[in-house]
Amino acid sequence: LLFLDLDNFKHINDSLGHAVGDQLLQSVANRLVAGVRVTDTVCRQGGDEFVILLSEIEQPQAAARVAKILRSELALPHLIDGHELHVSLSIGISVFPDDGSDVDMLMQNADTAMYHAKASGRDNYQFFKAEMNARAVRRQIVESSLRRALKHNEFLLHYQPQFDLESGEITGAEALIRWQDPEYGLVGPAQFISIAEECGLIVPIGQWVLREACSQIRAWLDAGLSAVPVAVNISAVEFRHEAFLGGVAKILRETGLAPHYLELELTENMLMHDAESSATVLVALRAMGVTLAIDDFGIGYSSLGYLKRFPIDTLKIDQSFVRDFATEIDDGTIVSAIIGMGKSLRQRVIAEGVESAEQLAFLRERQCDEGQGFHFSHPLPAADFARLLAGTRDIAHAVPA
Ligand code: C2E
Ligand code: MG
Ligand code: MG
Repeated sequence: LLFLDLDNFKHINDSLGHAVGDQLLQSVANRLVAGVRVTDTVCRQGGDEFVILLSEIEQPQAAARVAKILRSELALPHLIDGHELHVSLSIGISVFPDDGSDVDMLMQNADTAMYHAKASGRDNYQFFKAEMNARAVRRQIVESSLRRALKHNEFLLHYQPQFDLESGEITGAEALIRWQDPEYGLVGPAQFISIAEECGLIVPIGQWVLREACSQIRAWLDAGLSAVPVAVNISAVEFRHEAFLGGVAKILRETGLAPHYLELELTENMLMHDAESSATVLVALRAMGVTLAIDDFGIGYSSLGYLKRFPIDTLKIDQSFVRDFATEIDDGTIVSAIIGMGKSLRQRVIAEGVESAEQLAFLRERQCDEGQGFHFSHPLPAADFARLLAGTRDIAHAVPA
């Protein structure tokens, strides 16, 4: 079984358009079919992936020969719409019965071998080997891509507005990282943050996020917009890093941003992990003038005693309580309790993940101050968020005052 993936197809598709991309896929498909025997099966797996079943080979080396032929067939330029397009292939090979006795296993192992081919510089083929652990391979690829992304400035921030549920005014925003990967397109943080944490890259990435957010707010202020404070998510690894405090101070100094425009989002577990030293860092951050929020509040492990001692400005009620309040009676109770607690500790309370008018009504009834969620606005590119600040962009579901 051959698992084939075109290298850099995304780039062609993005730069020349889908019509050209589609024709290129057809041209590739024709050459693949022409390059194998009639008894073989060629299928498009989706996107720029193809799978070929060679049903009548005597030994594995015959599969390697086919892979070589296909690569040289594909290497000739494709003439499409006046463009001379070059594509190369990364191919993974799995062999029955050694690499799997059923379709799923063979497919998965060929896919893993294909990732290995990508990781070893693309434009080559690899046989599956037992020591190729799928997760490890993917991790290694993401890690090396993240290094490149940092160097080539492939990260960007989207900004999701937060609203006062009473007046409908924008009270702040959360900066959320995105990765514009040249091959895979816009990638969300769920796909790469945990890997960046595992390999330590979260530290330079986090610095980039802080610097980008601070210079963006500064630019909005300089442009005369009524900018709002922006919250930046901080990972546990960054928070514990010795250079963290110094880094925040340096970025504030270099961008010349007034510190109250910067809020840092931390999680309960992160703070409770070593509560004493967390308290020291929080106090130092507060002294710098930045504000502090607890993200995803309610799902972690908290000690109320510490919560009282930590200098926290904002509690963000986790999405799960907001989502299920109508079906889970307990969730409604928890939301009410968090709101009550936040108010008595004089904290701002923001409900996350507000998706519907019912959820909004429920939160208002419980006197929740603020909300954030798709009901108001998805996270927006910086330019769109600036239009929102300037009042020239409509909010689909603006909160009625
Ligand atoms: P989070 O900090 O809890 O961020 C909220 C997430 O919920 C965002 O996902 C946002 O797009 C999504 N969201 C907002 N409104 C709604 C809604 O109404 N319904 C639903 N279902 N989802 C909503 P995103 O951008 O994919 O970020 C996921 C997580 O990745 C964040 O969770 C945060 O923990 C982490 N993250 C994002 N940006 C950064 C960053 O710059 N640094 C670090 N360390 N972590 C980040
Ligand atoms: Mg957050
Ligand atoms: Mg959250």
